[in-house]
Amino acid sequence: MAVQRRNTRQRQLVLDTVRATSEHPTADEIYSAIRKVDEHVSRGTVYRNLNLLAEEGVIQTIKTPGGSRFDWNCSEHAHIICTTCGKVADLSLPYDKGLDTKATQDSGFSACSHYTLFEGICPECAGR
Ligand SMILES: [Zn+2]
Ligand SMILES: [Zn+2]
Repeated sequence: MAVQRRNTRQRQLVLDTVRATSEHPTADEIYSAIRKVDEHVSRGTVYRNLNLLAEEGVIQTIKTPGGSRFDWNCSEHAHIICTTCGKVADLSLPYDKGLDTKATQDSGFSACSHYTLFEGICPECAGR
């Protein structure tokens, strides 16, 4: 039972860390943040919990050129990545289901979905 309780606590710690930021952190960034709170949590534990939470749909994974980012906001929303510093921000663009239908018709693939990732230079980098 002690193991079970620890697992639950570590899972909650991972989830809380993802929910504490809107910066779309990488797994490594989440791991670093958790180590500041609890130095006994291993990298493997953090990665395993992130993947489980994403599989369960509690958080979502965003594919970016630098690797996967994690987002507590599971709604379908678009992202923009800074080509200079790699910062990822949310965009409130509507999800276009019509594109999925078109992709299905054109390709013959089923269960089509898409994600939208814009590139640009963030205000901080542009102001430098
Ligand atoms: Zn930037
Ligand atoms: Zn997001």
